[in-house]
Amino acid sequence: MAAPDSTAKDSLFGRPRQVIEAELPEREPVRCPLCDLDPAPFARDPQGFTLARCPGCHLEFLSPRPPFARLAERVYAHTYEDLSLAASQPTPEKKVQFERQLNLLERYLGRRGALLDVGCGAGAFLRLAAARGWQAAGTDIHLSEGARTSGARLWAGRLAAIDFGTERFDAVRFHHVLEHTENPLAELGRARALLRPNGLLYVSVPNLAGLSPRLKSWQSRWGMKRHPWRHYAALHHLWFFTPATLGRLVERAGFELLHWETPLRPKPGWPPWLTAAYRWLLEKPRRGSILDLYARAQ
Ligand SMILES: [Zn+2]
Repeated sequence: MAAPDSTAKDSLFGRPRQVIEAELPEREPVRCPLCDLDPAPFARDPQGFTLARCPGCHLEFLSPRPPFARLAERVYAHTYEDLSLAASQPTPEKKVQFERQLNLLERYLGRRGALLDVGCGAGAFLRLAAARGWQAAGTDIHLSEGARTSGARLWAGRLAAIDFGTERFDAVRFHHVLEHTENPLAELGRARALLRPNGLLYVSVPNLAGLSPRLKSWQSRWGMKRHPWRHYAALHHLWFFTPATLGRLVERAGFELLHWETPLRPKPGWPPWLTAAYRWLLEKPRRGSILDLYARAQ
């Protein structure tokens, strides 16, 4: 999934607690998928959502939360991201980012192969991967025109509900998808089952252990933020990962960790010195705000 389209008129994200509770009144408790423990709350955001942490493994998530089916229908359905045909052509920034992912997948796999992009959105990655010689395939809850005209094999629906028959893949990609799912361990387990022996997993999520999110959490805790805990993006995001907690989930699902990094996504128009400074400060020590993880099926 791409970044939320915050300009959508009926987007609920960031609205006052009263509005959220009127639209999504129900709440259900969530237990840690790794430890089966009830989490301990540690903060409440201005939307009224409780952020909680597992006492066993420190995985952070939203609990209680609106029922997942309601979220899928009210939040993720049609206004969540730009699914226009224009968005199926990667921007220069996305092209750099996607090529970096494909370079690493090709290095670890030693070749190109069949790749499943879970939550393929507007289809920009599918097109780029196919152009490089991958057999691209994708899933999404709603298949966009960009995805449908990409030439890739497609399945509509949630990963867990799709019947792939005997189809298997050499790589499965979750690009900013896992933080939106009902149960990330179940999603990763399904990916594991869909991979060929030694197949690869790629996951990208926001990195709560990055320098900027850590600073924002500290400011939120001490009342120094106008919109405390907004960087968690609760409502859009249900799970909040660090390299440690994502690594535990991936290993539990049957993968061996190969590599993780927090790649910089340079903004267009940045002068070279600023890009270099960010690289040195954030990318090199792996303190960036985006976490990319590569793993191999065991
Ligand atoms: Zn846990």
